[in-house]
Amino acid sequence: MQFETTLAFARKLDRIDPLKNFRTLFHLPKVKGKTAIYFTGNSLGLQPKTTKNFISEELNDWAALGVEGHVHAKRPWLYYHKFTKKGLALLTGAKSTEVVAMNHLTVNLHLLMVSFYRPTKKRFKIITEAGAFSSDQYAFESQIKYHKLDPNKTLVEIKPREGEHTLRTEDILATIEKHKDELALIIFGGVQYYTGQFFDIKKITQAAHAAGAYVGFDLAHAIGNVKLNLHKDNVDFAVWCSYKYLNAGPGAIAGAFVHERFANDASLPRFAGWWGHHEKDRFQMKKGFIAMAGIDSWQLSNHPVLPAAALLASLEIFQQAGLKNLHAKSLLLTGYLKYLLSQIDAAEEKFAILTPSDKRARGCQLSIFMKQKGKKVFDALTKAGVIADWREPNVIRVAPVPLYNTFEDVFRFVEIFKNALIR
Ligand SMILES: *Cc1c(COP(=O)(O)O)cnc(C)c1O
Repeated sequence: MQFETTLAFARKLDRIDPLKNFRTLFHLPKVKGKTAIYFTGNSLGLQPKTTKNFISEELNDWAALGVEGHVHAKRPWLYYHKFTKKGLALLTGAKSTEVVAMNHLTVNLHLLMVSFYRPTKKRFKIITEAGAFSSDQYAFESQIKYHKLDPNKTLVEIKPREGEHTLRTEDILATIEKHKDELALIIFGGVQYYTGQFFDIKKITQAAHAAGAYVGFDLAHAIGNVKLNLHKDNVDFAVWCSYKYLNAGPGAIAGAFVHERFANDASLPRFAGWWGHHEKDRFQMKKGFIAMAGIDSWQLSNHPVLPAAALLASLEIFQQAGLKNLHAKSLLLTGYLKYLLSQIDAAEEKFAILTPSDKRARGCQLSIFMKQKGKKVFDALTKAGVIADWREPNVIRVAPVPLYNTFEDVFRFVEIFKNALIR
């Protein structure tokens, strides 16, 4: 599409947007009485208006039924983890038996590393991207120490080449090849939280398996954002949180995927709890853990119904919108943002976009590396009602989300950005 730099053009794109009505399904924050330009759905997604109803239904059933709600609630609590499977499977490109909502992201990362990181004398290394999210770094380091290994000799972090900001797939594959004889696990972000780079999950997975290693992905910034095919791509395991693009609320229940190849693999060690025990005799409280098939066996505790209700509300919206529509709009919306930014500073003297320009290698987020006036521009954005994200030392992250952001949001953001930069 040939983009244009006028408000009229942005409004035209909004008028013909097949998803335009979805914005009305969300509560939009206000700044000084005016609807904000909310570009931080990558940090905390907005609240669907239906969330309150979903949670209220459970509160009402709890009030009316007490413990009987486990069986007699409209959505019986005993089986609540089953209700989000369809939506999660759709978003991750998985079978519903391969995904489950549970715990929090970092907890799930640890639980699955218990199963998939089993270093031996020969194979003990972990490969990851340099500058991974802090919580992931702490998880990797502590898992390595738990096995009495030295993180400095065990964790291989791949850095961008000199003068580059993102990783080349060829460099990732070369690093895997280089360490292949000592490699136990490759664990990567799906979309890198800082640069917005969407890694090539399929190629990384193939290379990992060719090297004889397991491979997992942290999809915190990928789920609800980019197209995922975890089952087909043969990924071993994945974890994610649900409060970013999934709009399930602050501290929402997270999720995990384990490929069906391991569904009945009793040789994989795991930490166990009663909710992972076979549901037929779970309440007989007998000695001897019998794993449910697949990811369900990694569940430890009974399901947190109130946060899961919020997740269910949100997943319903994704199913209504359709992933094809969402991905198509996302490409256009972020493409438009990139186009408008390129009109300001084509020579990249004042700022540069760190996120890959290849649209197959990014989701909706753009990370703007400010070469001058970074904090000043960010403060001006905040003052003008833009909610964006500042990362030290000088990056502004913006994520126009196809479910609730508009082309006009993008246009207005760039106007404010431009004025703050040239003033
Ligand atoms: C958001 C995010 C987290 C946060 O971890 P929680 O366990 O949900 O607090 C961890 N890792 C990555 C990559 C993230 O983007």
